Amino acid sequence: PLPVVAVVGRPNVGKSTLVNRFIGRRAAVVQDIPGVTRDRISYEALWNGKTFTVVDTGGWEPKASGMAAAIARQAEYAMRTADVIVLVVDAQVGVTETDLAAAKVLRRSKTPVIVVANKVDDERAEAGAAELWSLGLGEPFPVSALHGRSAGDLLDLVLDSM
Ligand code: GDP
Ligand code: MG
Repeated sequence: PLPVVAVVGRPNVGKSTLVNRFIGRRAAVVQDIPGVTRDRISYEALWNGKTFTVVDTGGWEPKASGMAAAIARQAEYAMRTADVIVLVVDAQVGVTETDLAAAKVLRRSKTPVIVVANKVDDERAEAGAAELWSLGLGEPFPVSALHGRSAGDLLDLVLDSM
């Protein structure tokens, strides 16, 4: 079986956009409205001659209640099934309660976790990424999934972590 990269995080942070970057095509559905991505869709990706599976997660209820429980379940599932976990956070919004709920679960992960500070579209936005140190999961990796900024470097790190 191929190594598995699970992309987790609360709705609207850019998980599906990042997954599309990883797989090099627009297969994952990107939507402004939370709850569009069905639970756990897998895609095959190729980077630097290595083939791996990328899992996009979603399946959220649009209501805010139950969000922390839902993300905890996603994180736990990722810990059981993935070889690398990418936790995506919206650096423009900053750390939310839901991000903290995910981080709390992932801090006890034996599977490597990479914290991605997404929506760092330019140098100016990089300041927002530093706040993600507070998740207690190591150095945040700033990218722009939308524009592709640092996406290749992130893929290198993901593959090195497998
Ligand atoms: P998901 O719910 O986590 O899968 O998020 P999506 O990938 O569906 O993206 C949610 C919204 O954020 C969409 O409108 C995307 O275009 C936008 N988005 C995703 N990545 C970026 C980024 O790097 N920069 C900016 N400015 N917007 C982004
Ligand atoms: Mg999505």
